[in-house]
Amino acid sequence: MVKALFLDRDGTLNEDTMYPHKEEHFKMLPGVIEGLKKLKEEFIFIIVTNQSGIGRGIFEEKDMHNFNDILLEKLRKNDVEVKKIFFCPHSPKDVCECRKPSVKYIEEAAKEFDIDLEKSWTLGDHAHDVEMGLNSGTKAIYLLTGHGEKHFKQLEEKSIKPDFVAKDFLEATNFILNNG
Ligand SMILES: [Mg+2]
Ligand SMILES: [Zn+2]
Repeated sequence: MVKALFLDRDGTLNEDTMYPHKEEHFKMLPGVIEGLKKLKEEFIFIIVTNQSGIGRGIFEEKDMHNFNDILLEKLRKNDVEVKKIFFCPHSPKDVCECRKPSVKYIEEAAKEFDIDLEKSWTLGDHAHDVEMGLNSGTKAIYLLTGHGEKHFKQLEEKSIKPDFVAKDFLEATNFILNNG
C-alpha cells in the first residue's frame, strides 16, 4: 500500500482567482513546489477538485483540462508528479455524487492506487476539503491560503475539526513530515 496526499487545487496549489480557468489566471502559491518536493519521497499526489464553473456555465470542461495541464507541466518541470486529477464538474444545484465533501473520489483513488487512507492526508482551503478527508479516514489539514482565511468560521459552524490549521503549504508540509 502507498500513502497519498489528497490535494485541493484552487487556493491550495494555485491562487484562487474566482474560477481560474485561463493561462493568465494561473499562479502557483508560495511554498507549494518546495513542499511537494519534500513530500514526494513518502506520498503519492492526487488532486480532488470541485469545478462548478463548468456546471455554472462560466467555462468549459476543456478550459479546465488546459488549466490542469499548465499546473501539471509546472510541477513536472520541478520533478513533481500528480497521479490523477479527479474533478466534479457539477453545480451545487445538480446534487451530484461527486462534489466535495463527497468521499467518492477518495474511495475510487484508494482502490485504483492501493492507498492506505489512515496514513494519508487531505489538504484544502475549504471546510468541505477537511470534511471529505476526515470522512474517508485520512488526516486533514485546513489551509489559510486561498479562501481559507475568509471561510475559517465554517469549520466551527459545521463542527469540523482538522488535525492542523496551516498558514501556508510549507507549514502544512512540515506538520505532515513531523506527524506521520
Ligand atoms: Mg480550494
Ligand atoms: Zn459532481
